[in-house]
Amino acid sequence: MNEITYYNPVQIISGRDCVINYPSFSSFGRRGLIVCGRNSARLSGALDDLRTAFDKAGIAYAIFDRVEENPSVETCQAGGAEARDYRADFIIGIGGGSPLDAAKAIAVYAANPDLDGAEIFNLDFKNPPLPIYAIGTTAGTGSEVTQYSILTVRSIENKKSLATPLIFPKIAFMDPNYTNTLPHRTTIASAVDALCHGIEGYFSKRANPITEALAEKAIKIMGCGLKDLVSGALDSDLREKLLYGSTIAGVVIAGTGTGFVHAMGYPLTYFDGLAHGEANSYFISDFVEYMSLARPDKERKIYSLMGLSGLQEFKDLIDRAIPKDLTLTREKVIKYTKISAPAAGIRNSVFELREDDIFYLYKQYSR
Ligand code: NAP
Ligand code: FE
Repeated sequence: MNEITYYNPVQIISGRDCVINYPSFSSFGRRGLIVCGRNSARLSGALDDLRTAFDKAGIAYAIFDRVEENPSVETCQAGGAEARDYRADFIIGIGGGSPLDAAKAIAVYAANPDLDGAEIFNLDFKNPPLPIYAIGTTAGTGSEVTQYSILTVRSIENKKSLATPLIFPKIAFMDPNYTNTLPHRTTIASAVDALCHGIEGYFSKRANPITEALAEKAIKIMGCGLKDLVSGALDSDLREKLLYGSTIAGVVIAGTGTGFVHAMGYPLTYFDGLAHGEANSYFISDFVEYMSLARPDKERKIYSLMGLSGLQEFKDLIDRAIPKDLTLTREKVIKYTKISAPAAGIRNSVFELREDDIFYLYKQYSR
């Protein structure tokens, strides 16, 4: 049994209307920068609730609503400059993983005007980030409870993870109503992402009894939830389960990190434009199969938690959830293998892939 190392300082406040009813916004500061994407904060109703609550608490705010999917270093640096110009004393992100990850990086850039672009990954910034708060609108990434900010870095043609306990949000607000407007396809993609977090965390070398217990819970909720989603059921109860399941899965990866599914999925997002959860779906079945070589007991446990008979049913479920229509050229297979092979996630699991395994896994999608 692994020794227990565990730290997660995020306060979780959940439930319908939890933002509008939160009594202590004035403790956040006097001027806030709200960070969000172009539509979701408004569509979900979260921005309206937050504005009402800030007005009531006498908090001034500006809105930075230019966060794109898979946010870039450049966007976050621009957000940091805007926070400084506005003299914000805290940052609050509203959205899925993209705006929440951006909010974290913006908080770092805001406090460190000298920090240029990808220097942020060196983690030697002089000043601590501004305090970060998070309001979730997808049921997937768990970014609201993690110390990670995944940014698109053009110079390396890939996505890269900024990881430091300094960027844990102080509070995560989770209101299931905000996920009602999430399109069906994004609901499925983000549910697959959260299921991957549970499974990759379960097989992590850093797993311990606390993260394992949470991973089993997350796999059960997200696995059964995905089965319901695939069979066409989607009501507010299911949305609530998926939201809380994804947050539990986020707590798991905060403790364990992710594995080769994420590492190998990033190039499919960067070069082929696949949504993050869709990219993960290309490798999660292979991940379970490879990991079963080291931990067949955990493999069996996953099927029993999800109510499946074995690997074939697992594969069928993932394929039904996200039909795979991407074909890779041989050049891409070689390129993506080179990009993924050095990633930390490749070495984070109980069974380590070699470079030719990675090549083979990409190659199965080539013409
Ligand atoms: P997302 O990229 O934040 O959002 C996907 C799309 O859904 C966007 O068009 C967004 O609109 C829309 N949307 C979000 N919430 C909505 C709502 N309630 N109603 C209607 N539309 C909504 O998706 P995501 O899957 O949550 O995040 C993916 C990002 O998170 C990736 O960059 C990934 O690498 C990262 N990630 C981070 C962690 C971590 O621990 N930090 C873990 C895994 C993944 P807008 O553009 O208007 O917002
Ligand atoms: Fe993810």
